Amino acid sequence: MRVEEKLYTLRYKRDEEPHLRIINPQQCLECEREYGQPQPCISVCPANVYSWNGEKLILSYENCVECGACRIACPFHNISWNYPRYGLGMSLRYG
Ligand code: SF4
Ligand code: SF4
Repeated sequence: MRVEEKLYTLRYKRDEEPHLRIINPQQCLECEREYGQPQPCISVCPANVYSWNGEKLILSYENCVECGACRIACPFHNISWNYPRYGLGMSLRYG
């Protein structure tokens, strides 16, 4: 089963309060200069939460599957990440 197909088995309850954010957006510009595109957070995220618009990182935090990979992959520790509030975020549809 492809990752995209597995993502369809998940259910999301949107938390209005983003559970992840970029600490210093300026750092992402430096990251792009140093690592090129796609930047590490974009490369590792299985849910396409991150995208680059040429100037800054765009976050679609509602799609996050809470794997934690971006936190580990960011070489500048520039991602503030918490689990969504209780009962919100991702859940397994058949779990
Ligand atoms: Fe920004 Fe970190 Fe992503 Fe680089 S890896 S673009 S510093 S969040
Ligand atoms: Fe993507 Fe996983 Fe980071 Fe969520 S925790 S933004 S799914 S890499």
